[in-house]
Order: sequence, then C-alpha cells, then structure tokens
Amino acid sequence: MDRQQDFVLRTIQDRDVRFVRLWFTDVIGTLKSVALSPAEVDAAFSEGLGFDGSSIDGYTRIFESDMLLQPDPSTFQVLPWRGEDDETSRMFCDVLTPEGEPYPADPRHVLRRALDKAADMGFTCFTHPEIEFYLLASDQPGPDGQPVPADTSGYFDHVPGSDAQDFRRSSVTLLEEMGISVEFSHHEDGPGQNEIDLRAADALTTADNIMTFRTIVKEVARSQGLYATFMPKPFSHHPGSGMHTHFSLFEGDSNSFYDPADEYRLSRTARQFIAGLLRHSEEITAITHQFVNSYKRLWGGGEAPAYVSWGHNNRSALVRVPLYKPDKAGSARIEYRGIDASANPYLAYAVLISAGLKGIEEGYELPDPAQDDVNALTTFERRALGHAPLPGTLHDAVRVMEDSEFVAEVLGEHVFSTLLRNKRQEWDDYRVEVTPYEIKRYLTGL
Ligand code: GLU
Ligand code: MG
Ligand code: MG
Repeated sequence: MDRQQDFVLRTIQDRDVRFVRLWFTDVIGTLKSVALSPAEVDAAFSEGLGFDGSSIDGYTRIFESDMLLQPDPSTFQVLPWRGEDDETSRMFCDVLTPEGEPYPADPRHVLRRALDKAADMGFTCFTHPEIEFYLLASDQPGPDGQPVPADTSGYFDHVPGSDAQDFRRSSVTLLEEMGISVEFSHHEDGPGQNEIDLRAADALTTADNIMTFRTIVKEVARSQGLYATFMPKPFSHHPGSGMHTHFSLFEGDSNSFYDPADEYRLSRTARQFIAGLLRHSEEITAITHQFVNSYKRLWGGGEAPAYVSWGHNNRSALVRVPLYKPDKAGSARIEYRGIDASANPYLAYAVLISAGLKGIEEGYELPDPAQDDVNALTTFERRALGHAPLPGTLHDAVRVMEDSEFVAEVLGEHVFSTLLRNKRQEWDDYRVEVTPYEIKRYLTGL
C-alpha cells in the first residue's frame, strides 16, 4: 500500500465518509460515476473494481465487457456540496483490462500517453483553461423556442446582488474547497454568459479539474434554481462558449517557451510548438469541436477563431501569444482559442499537446503572425496570407480527421475508429432534420 492510498483510507475513517464515488469518462467526455462503500476501497486499490463496460459510450463490445476501475489516490477529495452528515468523496480512475493493462478506450489513458511522450522529450506540460458557459433560468426553452438566460448583463458587468454574482461566488468557493484554484471569474459577453479561469496545473490534473468544474457549476446552478450549459452555441445571436487553453512546457523549473532575446519573447521551442498546433489544427477540429453545434460557435461570430493563424495579442487568431511581463519568465505561454466548452478535455489536450510536440520534434517553421483582424480580411487576402479556414461543419471535420495518421496515432486505433463512427452517426442524425429556420425561410413562398 503506498502512502497516498494509506492517506485516503485514513481520511475516509477520520471523516466518517459514507460513499466513495469512482469517476471516469467515456470517449465523448461524459462523466461516469460508481458509488463504492468505504469498506471496498482497500480492495479497489489492490485489485481494481470490476464493472461492465459494454454500455459505456466507446468502451467495449459485449464479449470483452469486464473492465477494472483503478482509483487514483492523488485525486481523492471530499465533495463539499453533499452536506456534512453524509460525507461523499470521489477519486478519478484509470480504466484497466481484466489483465491489468491500460484500457485503450480510456480518455485519461490517451492523455497520459501523450504526456509520457512529453516527459520522454524532457517536458512537463502546464495548462490553464478559460471556461465559458451560459447560466439559464431553466433547462426548458422559452415561448420563442430560445433558451432563457439568467440575466441580461454583458462583458465584465458588475451587477450588485445579481444571480450571476452569487452563483460565481458559490462556485469559486466550492472549487477552491476541492483544491481547484481559480484565477478569476467574470461575466462574459452574452446574457447569462460567465467565464471562470482555472490556475495552471499539469495537463492531466487540468483535465480532471475540468470534469469536476462542470459538475460543480451544474450543481451550484441547480441549487440556485438555475441551469448551467456548456453547449458551444446556445443562442444564434450571442457569442458561443469557448474553452481557450493556455499551454506552457517546462524543463525542470525553467519555462521552455521563454526567450528574452526574441521579439515576442518566444523561444524556438515555443515557435515550433505553435507551428505544430497550426499545422494539425484542421485534423483535430473534430475533437476540439466535437458536436454539430460546435460549428455554429466557430462560424457564428463572437470572437471564436475560424482561421488558421497566430498573433501577438491578436484575439482573432487561433493561437494567441498573450502579453506577459518581461520579468516573469515563468509565465511565458501560448493560448489556443480553437476549443469549445463541450470538448472532452482528455482527448482534446492529448491531440493539442501532441501537435505541439510534433512541431518541436520535426522542427516545423512558424509562419508570420497575423497583424490584422483575420475575420475582417477578404477570402482572397486570407488565402494569400495562408490563413486556411477550419472545417465548416462536423461532416467536414470528420472528413479531414479520417485521413489523419497523426490523429490515429495519438488517439490509438480504438478511440479513433469509435469517435469516427460516433461522429458520422451524429451527422447523419442531424442532416435529415428539418429545422425551424428552414420552415420560417421556405415554407411559404416556395
Ligand atoms: N466566447 C468566445 C469564444 O467562443 C471568446 C471570447 C473571449 O475572447 O473571451 O471563443
Ligand atoms: Mg472569454
Ligand atoms: Mg481567451
């Protein structure tokens, strides 16, 4: 028994924890949970907890359905919103085959594999997400068929005593109690739209934190009679919800992205990492934007980046190099803006980090930065400057991904083929739907 496992068992006893939830995710990024009685935790550590994986999206075929959940003791936390009389805790799990090997469809394993590759190259990868979401008055649409936002405020608005403010205060308190540090939170551009930015952590911890974050935000909303959604574009005429993520690589204590001598204070490593992100951005779009609705955000205005480009503090660019203080070498980082709030964080970070690492490995050249608002250029100008459009629909994105050896290698054959199957089905379901837009536009007059 290692020290962390021992600590978990003692805490369960000391705090009289009644339930231990084991958390893991399916390939789409849906959180799955099994409640375990405290007496079983010891055995789960040593042997894993057997479960039938056949009904989990992307997991197994029927004849190989026995899987094991191996709890990761470093993720043990008591859930602060369950109340003190009935303490409930959770641990994230790695999924294993009956032989004790990592199960290839476990998204956490896909990310671990990408991070092992980074470690082989000498790097630890830190990430910090800016998570946007809408707070709604209810989970039901209003009489006009549109969702009903919880307020009508806008960007950075301070509304004393507003629901959104109470909501953010409660969410941030719970997140901090779960050991998830928040950098800042504010009202975003759309009515009811909020953003909470987490502090940098290693990429696996960040992905776990995002899963916890979604749960907490939904719980807090519910406790206040509201509803929170991470849908990428709930409103036609308001901005979508992104999950811009900042990346940096460290070698020991030293930030490998920093070079004081460079015009943008970017090291060669950082430039190659960005070049990797740009070069592979189209192939990975079906993962960073995994739903039909994701493309409404991408192409529906509201500062979502739709063209392959990078820039220094340029908010229209896919990769933005933020301004940071020259004396703060440690904070050198780059921001990838092409990922939405609904992405499976494990798979999205696995492909993004691998794309950057490939840029370093292959020594990709970084093109010139975009100096203008890329969205305002003409198609001709963008083509001349090499700013290719990201895929326009889920269908287009799947078509690009299915030819990508890079994505197949990073995800592994099982996740790759499962996702393609799942996404083709989603597109087929969508394309036969006649939408309210079409009825309004075509029913009379044609
Ligand atoms: N909501 C925008 C998006 O979907 C981002 C706005 C911002 O720059 O924070 O990416
Ligand atoms: Mg924002
Ligand atoms: Mg941002």
